[in-house]
Amino acid sequence: MFVGNGFDIHKHSKDENLILGGINIDGDGFEAHSDGDIILHSLCDALLGSKAKKDLGYYFPSNETTPKGISSVDMLNKVLEIIEIDKLKINNIDITVLSQVINISKISNSICSNLANLLNIDKNVINVKGKSFDHLGVIGDGTASACMALVSVENA
Ligand SMILES: [Zn+2]
Repeated sequence: MFVGNGFDIHKHSKDENLILGGINIDGDGFEAHSDGDIILHSLCDALLGSKAKKDLGYYFPSNETTPKGISSVDMLNKVLEIIEIDKLKINNIDITVLSQVINISKISNSICSNLANLLNIDKNVINVKGKSFDHLGVIGDGTASACMALVSVENA
């Protein structure tokens, strides 16, 4: 069995659409070179970490070699190729969104369903939870939101 962890943080922007876990959500999106999906970015890093395959920035640097506004779903699909997902079984995924402005409890079910579709796994092994920041710092004042992901995989 292998485990990997991932972390991501982006600054909110009123000019961007909020995309989380590959779905459109009402609210302010993120400033980013890509679509700024903190859930998929942290999940990608966790998946890469589980197979010791470096990090998301190695494959998708935030410069002109990565298409501006690239969909994080496309990034995830590339990561699944890199870790050779067809030779693996995902045991479970645990995700924590750290935010003062995103109400995860209202959207976690939809996000879990979409992640299950994207990864072709059972929804029941995916957990997406939220944690407010007690109004502390750049997350607590709503400037930014962050995400942590943990994944466990084993050889299929
Ligand atoms: Zn990111």
